[in-house]
Amino acid sequence: MDNSLLRELPSVDVLARSKSLQGVAHLYSAPFVTWAARVVISTARREIKGGIRSDLSRDTLEAEVLAFIEQAVSPSLKRIVNASGTVLHTNLGRAELSDEAALNVVLTARGGVNLEFDLGRGGRGKRDSHLEGLICELTGAEAATVVNNNAAAVLITLNTLAEGAEVIISRGELIEIGGSFRLPEIIEKSGCTLKEIGTTNRTHADDYLGAVTDGTALILKAHTSNYKVVGFTSGVTLKELVGIGMLRSIPVIEDLGSGSLVDLTDYGLGTAMREPVVSESIAAGADIVTFSGDKLLGGPQAGIIAGKKEFIDQINANPLKRALRVDKMTVAALEATLRLYRNKESLAEKLPTLRYLSRPLDEIEETAKAAAIRLSDHLGEGYTIEVIGTKSEAGSGALPAEELSSWAIAISHDFMEADGIARLFLESDPPILGRIKDNRYLLDMRLIMEPESVIPNYERQ
Ligand SMILES: *Cc1c(COP(=O)(O)O)cnc(C)c1O
Repeated sequence: MDNSLLRELPSVDVLARSKSLQGVAHLYSAPFVTWAARVVISTARREIKGGIRSDLSRDTLEAEVLAFIEQAVSPSLKRIVNASGTVLHTNLGRAELSDEAALNVVLTARGGVNLEFDLGRGGRGKRDSHLEGLICELTGAEAATVVNNNAAAVLITLNTLAEGAEVIISRGELIEIGGSFRLPEIIEKSGCTLKEIGTTNRTHADDYLGAVTDGTALILKAHTSNYKVVGFTSGVTLKELVGIGMLRSIPVIEDLGSGSLVDLTDYGLGTAMREPVVSESIAAGADIVTFSGDKLLGGPQAGIIAGKKEFIDQINANPLKRALRVDKMTVAALEATLRLYRNKESLAEKLPTLRYLSRPLDEIEETAKAAAIRLSDHLGEGYTIEVIGTKSEAGSGALPAEELSSWAIAISHDFMEADGIARLFLESDPPILGRIKDNRYLLDMRLIMEPESVIPNYERQ
């Protein structure tokens, strides 16, 4: 270790009071600038001790403090351009909100709202009152409530209706979604005992009938969102399960997951494997259905529970409801999103999720070609840019079997690997996220409406 180098380091205070930092000193408090100087000095000290640093010029240290401040004050959560081709990308916050939903959040976030205030009576009201009527109208359910996400919806439903008792489910439906939602674990955390029946590929009505005992609280059916068992398979339809439930006087719950409110085949989607429609499950007699607000529904993160009033009342009386309730911004976004469903004609235009999923292929191609020309000009030497056909996906376990044909800009470089190109696009402001395929960097244009948005920008905005 070079002790003489350590001695060359300026003190934190001296560095913080450097001339070049005076420009930012009036923007931020002195303790904040001092903190930044301290971090830079201690990093430099560590690097000297590790033998990986010799440049201790004041200019360099001051520039490092400025860079550190710049990073510290820029928001952590920021917009990113989704050129991954995945419409409902869980890591990017799933559904993009409609203008109507986003505007309603802004309008209601800044002041008091009648979240739990009944303007007609001038007294205390119910949080669910803004959403329940709409959900019932759109699904045909008798009653409904909303919680933080669909995992919470399943948790509170099972805990309310089956705590300390058995829940029957087919082995073919013991799913894991997105790595952290595992149905067997949720069933256990809800205080229920899991009773698996049938086999992975085949479950029959007799399996359900034979499994019901005095200790059985409910039958659970789960939509196997993100996978499909093919070949020698057999399942029991919801309608049959409802019949079994009635015969044995136990409720039948369906976890629909993505839960579409409209028949997506009307939009040419789900022809390979149809997405279940919430109203059909209600019509088939499910006592409760649960689904996400931010998957195919296209709204904010939320879990919607719809079904028979007697069960919704019990769920609302569960103390867990208080722990899992949604805030006013979710209510605002979800109400505005649900309202869009009243006009089926304009839905695909106004709801981004549906707009992206049903976007005409030639429009995607046109955007890809326009963007490719701009990118060629912008990126310059060494890059090879092509417009190629590709496949996007719905994401979040929705429409898993769907082949969503799309167009992408494929970028390669004479020397740089695809992940190097990917990093350059992520360093843009706003960051641009594509995907890598066969060592080429792809910008899938399905979600890109403006060609300019995939041109990287390195000026701070
Ligand atoms: C996505 C999904 C969940 C979890 O929903 P979140 O809204 O992510 O909590 C549960 N069940 C099924 C069938 C799903 O598809």
